[in-house]
Amino acid sequence: MIPVRVIVTGAAFAAAIFSFASVAPAAPARQVQTFETSAGPVRITPIYHASLMIEAAGKIIYIDPARPANFAGLPPADLIIITDIHPDHMDPGSIAQISKPGTQIFAPPAVVSTVTTASPISNGETKTWGAWTIEAIPMYNVKRGPAPGQLYHPKGRGNGYVLTYGGKRFYFSGDTENIPEMRALKNIYVAFVCMNLPYTMPPDEAAEAVKAFHPQIVIPYHYRGSDLSVFKRDLEGTGIEVRLLDWYPSSQ
Ligand code: ZN
Repeated sequence: MIPVRVIVTGAAFAAAIFSFASVAPAAPARQVQTFETSAGPVRITPIYHASLMIEAAGKIIYIDPARPANFAGLPPADLIIITDIHPDHMDPGSIAQISKPGTQIFAPPAVVSTVTTASPISNGETKTWGAWTIEAIPMYNVKRGPAPGQLYHPKGRGNGYVLTYGGKRFYFSGDTENIPEMRALKNIYVAFVCMNLPYTMPPDEAAEAVKAFHPQIVIPYHYRGSDLSVFKRDLEGTGIEVRLLDWYPSSQ
């Protein structure tokens, strides 16, 4: 009986490989997060690294859609929001892939010079888009850069964002260190906070910043190579919920 069983398993395995190959690229399992607001649920889907999708009342917003994010099975964008010029945030190919006629784009002026269809938004500016309010928050390095006297992200070039919907404020840090503008944020429901060296900050520094503005929930993103257990440990006992998601799915 055993040899027959082996043969059947082998055939099933071959069939599985064949069907997988014929429908590539497969959509990875998505860890969709649902947040209740006074205007109904906001669903946020982590896609890859800094790329994510937001859905509320049938409207689709992407933040930093960029390769190698796998957009299989995801709907086209009504709005795209971009933080900065680096290829893990600004990727004209991915923008084209998820756009449809009428897709709007908000981006800092440094991005608009490449993504020319985008509307500029600078640090400190606020836009209204449908039921959403979009505030551009500074994101920058204080001390880290590619060479002495240089910074990976100079102040003023890129934007983090606070998006408000149904009375709830969602913060997306962009690429930043522990800056005063982050520590001064108020009334944040969910914070998506970057960490990774050498470009942004280590997990302990990110945790210090998060303690200062005390969101209800924090979700690390853009964390490649970082030890998230340090971040989680540093926030123990603060009352801030740390939600760890997989931003680097193996099916990418
Ligand atoms: Zn980045």
